[in-house]
Amino acid sequence: MSYVNEVFSSVQARSAGEPEFHQAVFEVLNSLEPVLAKHPEYQKMGILERLTEPERQVIFRVPWIDDHGDVHVNRGFRVQFNSAIGPYKGGLRFHPSVNLSIIKFLGFEQIFKNSLTSLPIGGGKGGADFDPKGKSEREVMTFCQSFMTELFRHIGADTDVPAGDIGVGGREVGYMYGQYKRLKNVYEGVLTGKGLTFGGSLARTEATGYGLVYFTREMLTDLGKSFDGATVTVSGSGNVAIYAAERAQSLGAKVVTMSDSSGWVYDPEGIDLKAVKKIKEVDRGRISEYLNSRPKAEYHTSGSVWQVPCEVALPCATQNELQLEDAIKLVDNKCWIVAEGANMPSTLEAVEYLQQNGVYFGPSKAANAGGVAVSALEMSQNSARLSWSFDEVDKKLEDIMVNIHKQSAQLAEEYSQRQNLVAGANMAGFMKVATAMMAQGVV
Ligand code: NDP
Repeated sequence: MSYVNEVFSSVQARSAGEPEFHQAVFEVLNSLEPVLAKHPEYQKMGILERLTEPERQVIFRVPWIDDHGDVHVNRGFRVQFNSAIGPYKGGLRFHPSVNLSIIKFLGFEQIFKNSLTSLPIGGGKGGADFDPKGKSEREVMTFCQSFMTELFRHIGADTDVPAGDIGVGGREVGYMYGQYKRLKNVYEGVLTGKGLTFGGSLARTEATGYGLVYFTREMLTDLGKSFDGATVTVSGSGNVAIYAAERAQSLGAKVVTMSDSSGWVYDPEGIDLKAVKKIKEVDRGRISEYLNSRPKAEYHTSGSVWQVPCEVALPCATQNELQLEDAIKLVDNKCWIVAEGANMPSTLEAVEYLQQNGVYFGPSKAANAGGVAVSALEMSQNSARLSWSFDEVDKKLEDIMVNIHKQSAQLAEEYSQRQNLVAGANMAGFMKVATAMMAQGVV
C-alpha cells in the first residue's frame, strides 16, 4: 500500500462517520504523490499522519435562553488543526448542519489555504449547530455571548484568531468581541471581521468575493479571455456571493443568477445587486423577494443555477452544492471556468468531470483565500495600531491573489500537470507547511 493510501485508510478508521473530512483529506493527499516521491523524508517524519490529526479539538455546551424564557442547548466546536506557520486562523460557522466532520474538513482545508496566502497563519475552524435565521437580535447576542464564554479560554491574538463564515457576519463578530474583551480585560485583535470602529479592516467585507474575481481574472487571462462581456452564474447570496458578483460586474461581466437555501433567481438582464444587498444585508430576507423589484426575473425552487448557460460559474454558497449532474450541464453549455468561492462546493466526481472535459477549474483553497488573507492583514493592522485605506488593502489583496494563482500554476507545471490548479494549490500549500514542520521536529 502506498504511503498516501496507508494514511488515508487510517484517517477513515480513526475518524469514522466524518464523510466531509474524508473527502477533503482524499482530495489533498491524492495530489501529493509526486512531492512525496521527491521528498522521502516527509514519510520518515510522519508529516501526513501529523497533518491529518488536529493539534487540538474542543467541543463544548452552549446554553442560552430565548425571548420566551425557554432554555436551549447548542454544541460549539473549535478545531485547532495546525500551527506550524502561525497562530490558528479560520472562521466560525453558525448553521444547523454544523458537526465535527464539517468543522474538521474546513479546518484541514484552511491549513493549505492559509499557507498559500504567504502570510504567517496556521489552520483552524469552529462554529456551532445554531441557526441564526428567525432569531431576534437579543437571542443572537445571547447566543454569541454564551458561545464566547467558553471559547475565550482557548483563543488569543497570538494563539488562535477566529473570523466569520456562514451565519457569522459583522454583527455576530461584534457581539463575540464584546464578550471576549469583558472576560479577558484586554483589547486585542482576537477576532477578525470586526466593525470599522473597533479594529476592523477596510475591504474585509469585500475580500473573499473580490479575491475570487481577481483569481478568476488570472485564469481567464491564461485562456486568452476576460470578464468583459462574459455571462457569469453565481450561487448563494451571502457575503461571498454578493461581493464576487459586484467585482465581476465592475469588470464588465453580466451576472445572471443568485440563490439561497430556498431557491434561486435568474435575471437575464443582469442581477441588480442593490436589490440583493437590501434583501440580504439590511432586511435579512429571502432571495425570492428579488422579484418584488425585478418582476421580469424568474424564481425557481427546483433545479439549480448551474443549468443556466454561462461562461464562468462561481459557486459561493456551501459545500457539495455542485454535483456531477451540474458539471454535465456546465460542460454541455460550454462553460470555460468554474472557480470556487465557497469551501469545497464541488463534489470530487464533479471536479473530475469538469477537468476531464476541458473546464478550467479553480479550487476553493486557492480561489477563496482572499478573505483569510485580508483577515491576516487586519491582524497586522491591529498589532501595529494602524488602519490602512480601502485601496491599500484592496491592492494587497489583488497582489496576494495573483501570487496564489502564479504559485499554483507554477507548481502544477513543475510536476507535469499543466493547468491543474487543484494539484498545484495542494502541492504549493503543503510544501511550506511541511518544510516548517520538518524544521520544528516531531511536535
Ligand atoms: P453567508 O452566511 O453570508 O451566505 C451563505 C449563502 O449560502 C446564503 O445565501 C445561504 O442561503 C446559502 N447557503 C448556505 N447553506 C446552504 C445550503 N445548504 N444550500 C443552499 N444554499 C445555502 O456565508 P458566506 O458568504 O460567508 O460563505 C459562503 C461560503 O464561502 C461558505 O462555504 C464559506 O465557508 C465560504 N467562505 C467564506 C469566507 C468569508 O470570508 N465569508 C471566506 C472563505 C470561504 P440561506 O441564507 O438560505 O442559508
